[in-house]
Amino acid sequence: MSTFKAPKGTYDLLPPDSATYLAVREAIAAPLRNSGYGYVETPGFENVELFARGVGESTDIVNKEMYSFTTRGGDQLALRPEGTASVLRAALEANLHKAGNLPVKLWYSGSYYRYERPQKGRYRHFSQVGAEAIGAEDPALDAELIILADQAYRSLGLSQFRILLNSLGDKECRPVYRAALQDFLRGLDLDEDTRRRIDINPLRVLDDKRDDVQKQLVGAPLLRDYLCDACKAYHEQVRELLTAAGVVYEDDPKLVRGLDYYTRTTFEFVHDGLGSQSAVGGGGRYDGLSEMIGGPALPSVGWALGVDRTVLALQAEGVALDLPAATSVFAVPLGEEARRVLFAKVTEVRKAGVAADFSYGGKGLKAAMKAANRSGARFAIVAGERDLAEGVVQLKDMESGEQEAVAVDEIVAVLQGKLG
Ligand code: ATP
Ligand code: MG
Repeated sequence: MSTFKAPKGTYDLLPPDSATYLAVREAIAAPLRNSGYGYVETPGFENVELFARGVGESTDIVNKEMYSFTTRGGDQLALRPEGTASVLRAALEANLHKAGNLPVKLWYSGSYYRYERPQKGRYRHFSQVGAEAIGAEDPALDAELIILADQAYRSLGLSQFRILLNSLGDKECRPVYRAALQDFLRGLDLDEDTRRRIDINPLRVLDDKRDDVQKQLVGAPLLRDYLCDACKAYHEQVRELLTAAGVVYEDDPKLVRGLDYYTRTTFEFVHDGLGSQSAVGGGGRYDGLSEMIGGPALPSVGWALGVDRTVLALQAEGVALDLPAATSVFAVPLGEEARRVLFAKVTEVRKAGVAADFSYGGKGLKAAMKAANRSGARFAIVAGERDLAEGVVQLKDMESGEQEAVAVDEIVAVLQGKLG
């Protein structure tokens, strides 16, 4: 063991578990790829100001959780704590919104960094797959994204998750509600930090996880009673489209989420097997974000799903993914001549698209067959001097244990045939 360990709040993805992570990323991305979303990749860090404005100065993410630093050249940067601000920045910078094809639909996958108190399901480095649909106001787009996330989770075999849905109103009705909520909150017994939050971002107080706060919030005014007609109609359409698609959701009038830029539709995916870190993903509409970061008005909607917590959700439900075997064929050479011949065959088999591995390090038959077993390969090809003298290799079916001699020249075709 080296003297170094992974930094606090982080962990390494190692085989065989890492295969599950890859499969989860792939399963979340597949419905997006299938629905007109193009892949976008942005840097792991950005100008700190992008997040300050885009995520919000009053959020925990910006105030407490961001890894910000000054470069040797004097630039103020931050490791990305989330994806939306960066993706929108990239789309604006490349003028994707001017190409005359709105909405611009993008998906991404990557690492995010937040200086949090580490615990199960909450890390300082974590992984998300996200989607953003930029530049269109259409309830069908909000519904599409929720449907695709639902589809992704179902394709993974998850069933114990719930979709919480709310509307946060718009610049028309939210200020009226905000004032009413502030009035209510000012009458409560709250600590100084929270009182400050009442002035800056009162909706976030609803998101407070502490019991003594939640108790006092019973009877708080709810946004749904303040929604303007346009927001009400919009939200009703989202709900109808989800219902028509067979997606089950719960109305949660207190759902606000941690970021400042959400408007109208807001939603969260929670998993009941995860304890206190129950949110596996979330998102919503952010019609004001583009203008907040200096762009034109571009109503947009998106979500991000946490890969780490999705893997925990799979464990909680006892779902084992049906992962393809990493290795289908394992070659066991006995002696120098066999090493040369089988190595060439393994290279050929690989070129034909069959996953193959080789017994390295001059192992004896017993140790090499153990390695073949451990690799999970369906077939082993074994050859010694005597086999090669006869122009054959032994093909062993690792499931049935049966073995047959196959001509060296035919082994690639035979394996391809057997493995389909
Ligand atoms: P929470 O309320 O649990 O702090 P959040 O509202 O901060 O979540 P978002 O910013 O909406 O989370 O991120 C979307 C998803 O990313 C979350 O639902 C979660 O699955 C995942 N996520 C967020 N922060 C972390 C973290 N520190 N460690 C692991 N996963 C995370
Ligand atoms: Mg958080």
